[in-house]
Amino acid sequence: MQMLKVRRYLRGSGRVLAFVFVASVIWLLFDMAALRISINDVNSQLLRERVIREKEVMMLMMMKQRQSRVTQPMKEGLDHPVQKVDLAVTHSWKKQRSNKLAQAYRRGGKDLELNSNQKRGDKVIIGDNSESNNKVRPKKEAVNLDLNEAVARKTQHPPGVQVNTNQGVKVASQLQVEEAHPARTVSHQNPNKNVNKKEESVEAKRVGMTERTNLNAKKEPLNLRAGQNSTAGRKAGVHKVLHLDMTQAPRDAKAVGQFGQAVFLSRSDDAEVKKRWDEGHFNVYLSDQIPVDRAIPDTRPESCAQNLVHDDLPSTSVIFCFVDEVWSTLLRSVHSVLNRSPPHLLKEIILVDDFSTRDYLKEPLDKYMSQFPKVRIVRLKERQGLIRARLAGAAVAKGDVLTFLDSHVECNVGWLEPLLEQVYLDRRKVPCPVIEVISDKDMSYMLVDNFQRGIFKWPLVFGWSAVPEDVIRKNNLTVSDPIKCPVMAGGLFSIDKNYFFELGTYDPGLDVWGGENMEISFKIWMCGGEIEIIPCSRVGHIFRGQNPYKFPKDRQKTVERNLARVAEVWLDEYKDVFYGHGYHHLLDKKLMDIGNLTEQIELRKRLKCKSFKWYLENVYPDINTPLAKAEGLVFNRGLRKCLALQKGSLSFETCDLTKQNQHFNYTWMRHIRQQDLCVGSQTKEHGLALLSCDNTKPDLRWLHKASNLALAEHLITEFSNHMCLEAEPRGVITRLSPCDSNSVFQKWQFTHYHVQ
Ligand code: UDP
Ligand code: MN
Repeated sequence: MQMLKVRRYLRGSGRVLAFVFVASVIWLLFDMAALRISINDVNSQLLRERVIREKEVMMLMMMKQRQSRVTQPMKEGLDHPVQKVDLAVTHSWKKQRSNKLAQAYRRGGKDLELNSNQKRGDKVIIGDNSESNNKVRPKKEAVNLDLNEAVARKTQHPPGVQVNTNQGVKVASQLQVEEAHPARTVSHQNPNKNVNKKEESVEAKRVGMTERTNLNAKKEPLNLRAGQNSTAGRKAGVHKVLHLDMTQAPRDAKAVGQFGQAVFLSRSDDAEVKKRWDEGHFNVYLSDQIPVDRAIPDTRPESCAQNLVHDDLPSTSVIFCFVDEVWSTLLRSVHSVLNRSPPHLLKEIILVDDFSTRDYLKEPLDKYMSQFPKVRIVRLKERQGLIRARLAGAAVAKGDVLTFLDSHVECNVGWLEPLLEQVYLDRRKVPCPVIEVISDKDMSYMLVDNFQRGIFKWPLVFGWSAVPEDVIRKNNLTVSDPIKCPVMAGGLFSIDKNYFFELGTYDPGLDVWGGENMEISFKIWMCGGEIEIIPCSRVGHIFRGQNPYKFPKDRQKTVERNLARVAEVWLDEYKDVFYGHGYHHLLDKKLMDIGNLTEQIELRKRLKCKSFKWYLENVYPDINTPLAKAEGLVFNRGLRKCLALQKGSLSFETCDLTKQNQHFNYTWMRHIRQQDLCVGSQTKEHGLALLSCDNTKPDLRWLHKASNLALAEHLITEFSNHMCLEAEPRGVITRLSPCDSNSVFQKWQFTHYHVQ
């Protein structure tokens, strides 16, 4: 009995004991979790502090650098060995420039001012200094830090920094997602107090797992700029742009080119620099010495880090196409994506090898990339060119969004979310990052001007130009607002995958390189989409003076052919403006086979795309493109009468602006045209004829300049040995005569000249 009692007692107390035991275990677990969270919090706070301090140091140095550059004599730069090498290269390149074409100036790149048009003596309106004819990009500013000073400054704050360095290392590996960097007022002394930050950080991790729901729905833009709405951060469904940068810690702060600084090599390196230049048409020798995961300065406008983006952004496949890319730049491109993209948004990185010839891009690349499960390599069996290589990447991509990048870039902190946010808001938005400049000589990371957008000038030459002042004012644009972009540079953009396919992708008939940025830009705008530059997304790119790879066929012909395809499909009546800028020869089918365009033309019809006129008026209204070079009455100076069309033949009448039969256009095709009839020169008996206009017939073309020429105001046949149109003094007929610069009967004036 006693035993039973004891047992019962023990059973009873056993329950209590077990309860106490379980409770204390739970308590302990809670405690450990709390401790862990608070350590994480401390650590992330410390990491944040490092980032803030680093940013401050960088900003200071940048400002200092800017100031010092004003007083720095130019000579200093020219004396530099790297620049010397470059000068040598530029010289050899200059020799070839005359036979390169205008289109080569692309993505801020090449050869704008000298082109084949000028050789043919045609007027090209791209020499306008006010805009985009700089060789690289509009004014840019080097983020040139004094490394020693930057490092010294860092160690000037021992209390914070010492602790950071030790614990920050641990945190960096634990913290996959670092939250937006906090305002600078955050206390450095007592990081634990900042409870909200911790919540945001946990939230950021959580939202990473959220599935995207309605892909097609158009969402309302957040329109929550930094400081505009302080409660917005707590609103469900959005978070501050993630400030993820694995290169912030740890790293070798003294490494060559660290922090995106310019590297000045010694003269003894000249030969090596020169030797290796052609491998990539930039300083390959130097690039190979810079860490493949170097840090670069956060060049975003100040407010960007505070911007909000949606939690359920779509995922993206990043597609790099490359042919014979330099090892170190290819790796740096890939690392910059891995290190600065939120992992939950980065579905994969697809490397499309466009039949490279270099051995290191085969097994060694496979081996290197095998350590990154997200990286896939697609090998093309023959050279396809950048356009079809991108299509190969798109065909296997699994992400919701395609993000195309060149293979010599460095993605900056926070680059991805702002791009995906735009696609999320409207799947027809095609966002492009701001393309910053990585110097081809000293590999420094350089800032570019604000409010720049991609444009074209005739004949479809890509360039950069500032958003007109009145547009900035009217729309109240700030430096971080998306910028409407008439033409994308081409190399770097994101696009909703399904939308890309709905648009019919690129014209697969475009070869190797060139013109595809025009094609996709016109297609996007005219078929209902829009292209924007997103100032909060920044990616550095090495602009090269020359393509470092071979073109399977003649380079110039390849690009010209691509452009002609674009013109034929997209430009409507404006295609004459394109051909009229030195590309008449493309109209000769015997000289140039531009291939079949039926599918592209069908596609445009199917998509019910708008006209090119609409595009010019609505997307790029600041380009002035008259459809005729000159128009109105055609006045003969000697006769003091005007050309008239009567009963199918030419005659003279007293000038009368109200008479339609006296109105002619001098077109881009160099036709003298009234409706569908063109004035033609015929060799036999030097006669003239009125024929139906036909772009391919050279005997309908007349050279004519209003001024600045020995034969100003003459109408010179392009055909039949350059004869001039002359009014017979009695004023009955016109005829062709040998040109005489003094003859007033050979001088003709149109009422309006749109182009000189
Ligand atoms: N590219 C390619 N196949 C080609 C030509 C180019 O895969 O036939 C790649 C090239 O390696 C680069 C991208 O396409 O990553 C864009 O080319 P590039 O950088 O020469 O163009 P740019 O920036 O000079 O306009
Ligand atoms: Mn490039």
